[in-house]
Amino acid sequence: MSQSSCKTIKTTCAYCGVGCGIEASVNETERQVLINGDDNHPANFGRLCSKGSSLGETIDVSSRLLTPYIGQQATDWNTALDAVASTFSQIIAEHGPDSVAIYGSGQLLTEDYYVANKLMKGFIGSANIDTNSRLCMSSAVSGHKRAFGTDTVPNCYDDLELADLVVITGSNMAWCHPISYQRIRAAKAKNPNMRVVVIDPRRTATCDIADLHLPLAGGSDVVLFNGLLNHLVNGQYLQQEYIDNHTQGFAEAVAAAQQDAGDLAEVALRTRLSERDLVTFYNWFAETDKVVTAYSQGVKQSSSGVDKVNSILNCHLATGRIGKPGAGPLSMTGQPNAMGGREVGGLATTLAAHMEFNIDGDTDRVARFWNAANMATKPGLPAVELFEAIAAGKIKAVWIMATNPVVSLPNADQVKAALQQCPFVVVSDCVANTDTLELAHIKLPAQGWSEKDGIVTNSERRLSHQRALLPPAGEAKPDWWIISQVGQRLGFKDAFNYQHQVEIFREHAALSGFENSSEQRLRDFDISAFANISQQQYEDFEPIQWPVNQQYPNGKERFFADGQFYTPNRKANFIALTGRAPGNLPDQEYPLVLNTGRLRDQWHTMTRSALAPRLNQHRPEPFVEVNPQDAAKYGLKDGHIAHLQSRWGQMYARVNVSESQVAGDVFVPMHWTEQYASKGRMGAVVNPVVDPVSGQPESKHTPIRIAPY
Ligand code: SF4
Repeated sequence: MSQSSCKTIKTTCAYCGVGCGIEASVNETERQVLINGDDNHPANFGRLCSKGSSLGETIDVSSRLLTPYIGQQATDWNTALDAVASTFSQIIAEHGPDSVAIYGSGQLLTEDYYVANKLMKGFIGSANIDTNSRLCMSSAVSGHKRAFGTDTVPNCYDDLELADLVVITGSNMAWCHPISYQRIRAAKAKNPNMRVVVIDPRRTATCDIADLHLPLAGGSDVVLFNGLLNHLVNGQYLQQEYIDNHTQGFAEAVAAAQQDAGDLAEVALRTRLSERDLVTFYNWFAETDKVVTAYSQGVKQSSSGVDKVNSILNCHLATGRIGKPGAGPLSMTGQPNAMGGREVGGLATTLAAHMEFNIDGDTDRVARFWNAANMATKPGLPAVELFEAIAAGKIKAVWIMATNPVVSLPNADQVKAALQQCPFVVVSDCVANTDTLELAHIKLPAQGWSEKDGIVTNSERRLSHQRALLPPAGEAKPDWWIISQVGQRLGFKDAFNYQHQVEIFREHAALSGFENSSEQRLRDFDISAFANISQQQYEDFEPIQWPVNQQYPNGKERFFADGQFYTPNRKANFIALTGRAPGNLPDQEYPLVLNTGRLRDQWHTMTRSALAPRLNQHRPEPFVEVNPQDAAKYGLKDGHIAHLQSRWGQMYARVNVSESQVAGDVFVPMHWTEQYASKGRMGAVVNPVVDPVSGQPESKHTPIRIAPY
């Protein structure tokens, strides 16, 4: 690329919740982008992983959806938008607001997410708007709210480096949040006192830096952390003053933990861990002041995901290790803007600006701010239930944005069948071919990374600007524009009359500060300092952690060091917990447990990452990782194809015999679609059990059987 024709633009990575900053050298004429890490971005300080550094290889327009389609017929925007609005209108008029739905994505920018929620919850009058973030972090949302009163991430990435003990649980961080992992690795190299414990049924690449690996039985996390709480009590490692002054429910939580996991031998039996390893872990946790527990999908994608989150939070509250430098819990978010989605009320069960349907005054507060024509008054259906309602014919029109549920949702054959019979399916996406787009009645071309422009928030609450680098491909439009155009056509001209995304960001910021005080209802999420941001300030936006308001104009690294929470009496809640078995257990017919997860070099359903040739070299096809004992038992040969069958569906994958897998468990990556590997779609096999509080699916534990093909 000729340097003379280049301009340098700072932006944010398209992929995971680490939210790394990028410096892109852009040649607009040749539509080329060279990617480098942004040395000044606090999430990555110049580092990028294989996915982020390959982004320049994914911007070719040949795979893009370039124009709107009605059926197989290309059309213009006006015709397509009129058709979407008139069909939604007609269905709402005949069947009511709850007969339509939106299913969004953590890939949406905050402005897109905000407008979609405003349209559904404030103007259509239904909260049937959920997102693939339900699959990613909704158990952390619920766990935070139960403990803190709000969905607040107390700590930040710097704490991963400041800690003397990092507990990584339910996460192959080396592959799924690689830059956070690299920061821990570098900190450990500098600090001889730093220890790392990895809790994961699999021996993954993350274990390379582990001083202790605990291959616990899938689903036994609550028992493990209840055992830790007992150890803290029995060994008098508690911060009693903190517990007395800043928390409630401690006695009940301890009583439940003792009932559930009072005996070390019992904990060892149920977690499948040795007593010696348990004692080592418990002592390290108890005796180290600076402990961070970083947790991800292995904790959250579970039918007891919320309890697992609270079992971790209980131990941090009991030791007063929360929101302090190098001490606290840290939920690692999967997607680039899952956190931004939480801010705007992107889940069917929440309202904008961290307000709630079930809290007095919040629904009315949001309705007044929006001047809402038809405010939803109750939560809508979370993802799995939403697609079940489509299958049952209760939802008759769905608009899917920037996601591929036919691959990624559990019980994916049922999801496919639901969309096949749904009377009206609209899909907005930046690519032309996905398993979900094939089922759309109307396809709308959205701008993709490198073209769209807006704000995203990473796992540590840091807002960053994802900037446009190139002109849009074909007729592609920003998601906020598409949604606003439909909003106007539905009759809400004033409410959706946005000319630029900065107007939406200002409104979002203003709502976060609206009636947000201890006299009204004090909320954690407040970026009201941006309510009057100019367009130039927005263009120049520097990464910053919320809250950003009068009190914290430069943001805030940590919450709760002062022991003040967002419950009515400002005290944190301990939660009394009892470990529960996963929703479906192996039996004679389906004797193995299927665990699923991400690979180092692919992202979700591969619509972008598969475009980068070097990323496809890592693992070119679907595989199933099997312990040697199970391979021998079921006649499987390394490198041959296996057939995996559950009660919900089937798939094929190449066998990879590996000691990293314990006997009885198998692992399959989540990424492949019908497009890239016929019958390689793991979602077809996964059970649709969900957590009863958060609605997050149990993607890590499905009974299956396996046989050579
Ligand atoms: Fe992108 Fe995540 Fe890799 Fe950072 S760690 S470069 S955000 S994929």
